Amino acid sequence: MTTDKHPENAPAPVAVLGLGLMGHALAAALLRAGHPTTVWNRTAAKADDLVAEGAARAATPAEALAAAPLVVACVTDYDALRTLLDPVEAADLRGRTLVNLTTGTSAQAGDTAAWAAERGLTYLDGAIMATPPGIGTAEATIVLSGPRAEFDRHAPALRALAGDTPYLGADPGLTALYEMAVVGLMWSILNGWLQGAALLGTAGVSAAEYTAVAAKGIPTVVDWLPGYAKQVDTGTFPADDATLDVHRAAMAHLVQESESLGVNAEFPALVKALADRAAAAGHGGEGYAVMIEEFRRPAAKPE
Ligand code: NAP
Repeated sequence: MTTDKHPENAPAPVAVLGLGLMGHALAAALLRAGHPTTVWNRTAAKADDLVAEGAARAATPAEALAAAPLVVACVTDYDALRTLLDPVEAADLRGRTLVNLTTGTSAQAGDTAAWAAERGLTYLDGAIMATPPGIGTAEATIVLSGPRAEFDRHAPALRALAGDTPYLGADPGLTALYEMAVVGLMWSILNGWLQGAALLGTAGVSAAEYTAVAAKGIPTVVDWLPGYAKQVDTGTFPADDATLDVHRAAMAHLVQESESLGVNAEFPALVKALADRAAAAGHGGEGYAVMIEEFRRPAAKPE
């Protein structure tokens, strides 16, 4: 069987909308994998090197959509996506599959899926868990959700973008939720590391020296996660390793140390405030994962 007059087993044609840092890397990976690639970007010059390497340049988003059954979009945000797709006639959208790798919220993904469905455009939402240099490598992950059959149909092209492309389910909003969860985790690690770098900097320790020690602790914490995940999923929080009260005492020391050395104490104070609330609710003798109760509800509004 062939699709859109393309020979069976040959890399399928793909169009890429948006050639910023990420979109450019996506288009380059598709080209490297042998996919006939059509590119469009608002600022046309960003396509020049890709065109020199064999990509076809589309003058408009509609022209890009006409060139391939699979369209990958990666622009700043969902408003930008709609700005470029809204003027495209429904007839030019019908029958195409849009894989949207733009970052947004789950509600925006749901709205865009509904918008696409009204126009006969099949919609897969994706979230990139890599930076541009990682695109097209085995280490890159792009999570995807939407209609399973479309995910399967375009799996070879998606694998050209990332070695790991987990399918999360039919709900188009799930990828956005995963992306938000993962960037939140990333910022927590980075903020904790920066706090440490600021503290040790007061003793003349370079960030590189500190990192040599600190990096060893990160896999240790990662090892705790499956056990804590089980506690979160079952709703029981035995203090198998340390109680929340023991953690709170160490948090108080971190706040005190930061303040006495003239380092910003806002981040550890916020962590301590959450733990203090959990302890005030009677959970000080339980394990750290009991803090999930604090994360599950909005903060009380100040009086
Ligand atoms: P970027 O380098 O700033 O590129 C932004 C792209 O959006 C450019 O192609 C830009 O076109 C286009 N754009 C913005 N507004 C537009 C509009 N109104 N109409 C048409 N095109 C418009 O950003 P990026 O790093 O490629 O990121 C793109 C998306 O990927 C974001 O949602 C980001 O969160 C996500 N992402 C990025 C990374 C990363 O490491 N960079 C990682 C994961 C996810 P012009 O060139 O004409 O300005």
